[in-house]
Amino acid sequence: MAKVHNYSAGPCILPKEVFQKAAKSIENFNDLNLSLIEISHRSKDFVDVMEEARSLVKEILNIPENYDVLFLQGGASLGFLTAAYNMMRSHKRGGYLVTGSWAKKAAKEANFMGESKIIASSEDTNFNYIPKGYDLGDDIDYFHVTSNNTIFGTQIKEFYKGEIPLVCDMSSDIFSRKINIDDFDLIYAGAQKNMGPAGTTLYILKKDILGNSTVPIPTMLNLKTHTEKDSMFNTPPVFAVYTSMLTLQWLKGIGGLDAIEKINMEKSNLIYNEIDRNPLFSGTANVEDRSNMNATFTLNDHNLSNEFEQMLNDANVSGLKGHRSVGGYRASMYNAMPKESVEVLVDVMKELTTKKG
Ligand SMILES: *Cc1c(COP(=O)(O)O)cnc(C)c1O
Repeated sequence: MAKVHNYSAGPCILPKEVFQKAAKSIENFNDLNLSLIEISHRSKDFVDVMEEARSLVKEILNIPENYDVLFLQGGASLGFLTAAYNMMRSHKRGGYLVTGSWAKKAAKEANFMGESKIIASSEDTNFNYIPKGYDLGDDIDYFHVTSNNTIFGTQIKEFYKGEIPLVCDMSSDIFSRKINIDDFDLIYAGAQKNMGPAGTTLYILKKDILGNSTVPIPTMLNLKTHTEKDSMFNTPPVFAVYTSMLTLQWLKGIGGLDAIEKINMEKSNLIYNEIDRNPLFSGTANVEDRSNMNATFTLNDHNLSNEFEQMLNDANVSGLKGHRSVGGYRASMYNAMPKESVEVLVDVMKELTTKKG
């Protein structure tokens, strides 16, 4: 069968070797003659998986000793609420940088136990840029940002550095580039954009945030519940954690963040260079805020869309349709996407110009 160049924005593609090993674990895990999904999560075989997954996160992201790593459930969408519960302090107020639909949803959740303050928003221009030069004020307990705006194709290049605890939804660009963990008090990320299948959410937290909330926290949303039990308070999503562990092994094997950052840069340069060079297309995001994970663009002449889409189809390019709130196209180039797939897309864009130019 011909290779499909899958630009899905999420769930994401994963390396082939990860799929192969994950598939094997369903039938026969660790040569136990048992499936990964039918053994006790308290067995040594699975506890070892959880421990290796957590330690690979620490190693790859260079996480200091005063941080903890958890694999929980509920998606990043529950992370919006979990983050707010755990970060409320004397003001009972979180500051939010509203850079897209996910950020807006995050801000909404803070109102269940406190309130949210919108620090700045780019909604006025359909989130095509990252606001800068804002004032946080002195009445918020934490500052919440979304590192990469999956739908709109923008990405924060420089994070806030200051006294106010920084919380980040890193769902769609974690492990895509080097970050300085010390800048953050709490990071959460749904696995299915860049790490594994849907079903688990990664939390990276500074240990000293625990136990300091000024609001009562439901047991499952209290991060302390989970750190005290080494991420095994209740049955973890075993398959999602195992598959994430395999992806992290792959990432470490290819050279970790140094290597992947370089590859991701090459891929995004390829596509952005074509968008800028090709008179038939326009990028939708502000150039300096462009994401290296999700490139959003449109055809200047909508009459060409049927032809372009047919050509994409013939070249086995799938999942390129933009989110309905932006329209146009979105090329999601998560870690496992080979450069060769981006070259195929760029060739189709070039070919359209040759035909129409
Ligand atoms: C996909 C996405 C979410 C939602 O994640 P779920 O795991 O589906 O809840 C939140 N934030 C960002 C930045 C995303 O890309």
